[in-house]
Amino acid sequence: MSQPAPRPVHKTPQTRRTGPATPAELALAWSHSARFLTTAAQIHQLPVNELPEIAFVGRSNAGKSTAINTLAQQRQLAYASKTPGRTQHINLFHLGPREAPNQLWADLPGYGYAAVARAAKHRWQAVMTQYLEIRRSLSGVVQMIDSRHGFTELDKQLLAFVAPRVATGEVKLLVLLTKADKLNRKEGAQALRDAQEVLAELSTDDADIGVTLFSALNKSGVADVAETLQSWAAPEEVARQLAEVNRLAFEQAQENQALGMPEPWSDTDED
Ligand code: GDP
Repeated sequence: MSQPAPRPVHKTPQTRRTGPATPAELALAWSHSARFLTTAAQIHQLPVNELPEIAFVGRSNAGKSTAINTLAQQRQLAYASKTPGRTQHINLFHLGPREAPNQLWADLPGYGYAAVARAAKHRWQAVMTQYLEIRRSLSGVVQMIDSRHGFTELDKQLLAFVAPRVATGEVKLLVLLTKADKLNRKEGAQALRDAQEVLAELSTDDADIGVTLFSALNKSGVADVAETLQSWAAPEEVARQLAEVNRLAFEQAQENQALGMPEPWSDTDED
């Protein structure tokens, strides 16, 4: 009896693409380069910085740490801001090539946590006001808003601090409507419209304001946000020129910090 002819074995074709990476892939590779730089308990401990600095702000629990970790595709990057005693610090991250970073992310303390005493709230306000109104290198604000709740009064107050610099275009604004996976399509569209209505009040000819639905769970909006942030980075030549200046400024800030300044807005002390 003759054996049936062996069935030809079809090899799965190689799926690896050889063409150039898409803008989204490039932006995600860039945001993946985020690494912890330093933490500052006071504004004056922040290193002088000549790079575009992007502040991440939002109410506690709005999804800020998750958004930062998702953009960076790293589980623990924004973990420091959750460490007890560190929740009121400003944590800084570098982006871009190691030898010539081209952007700085500043993870600002979450606000509006119900258990925080009134005195601590006032301190928070002072810190935010100082940082958002006068930090010279601030060139962008990413505000996390829970898509199910929209802008609260506190979120609007924060926007008011930075509104004058947004109006002139000096500071760009990107609002992430977080946890968008919890909304259906219709609710998502409504959340976007509501947010746009609030943001329209800040709009001027020079302002650069964006808003997007964002979900760390199903990754919607993630690549778009990475692309926007990458477009705010310093051009390569500028970053290269600034690298030495920023390195020296950072070392100086580290020395100042080592002198052990008191922490005026620590979690525990009361007025
Ligand atoms: P933060 O206080 O603003 O840093 O908020 P977290 O990043 O710690 O998130 C607060 C809670 O919301 C956590 O339980 C997260 O797991 C959850 N969360 C954050 N992002 C998302 C998201 O995109 N989808 C869903 N379903 N939950 C999220």
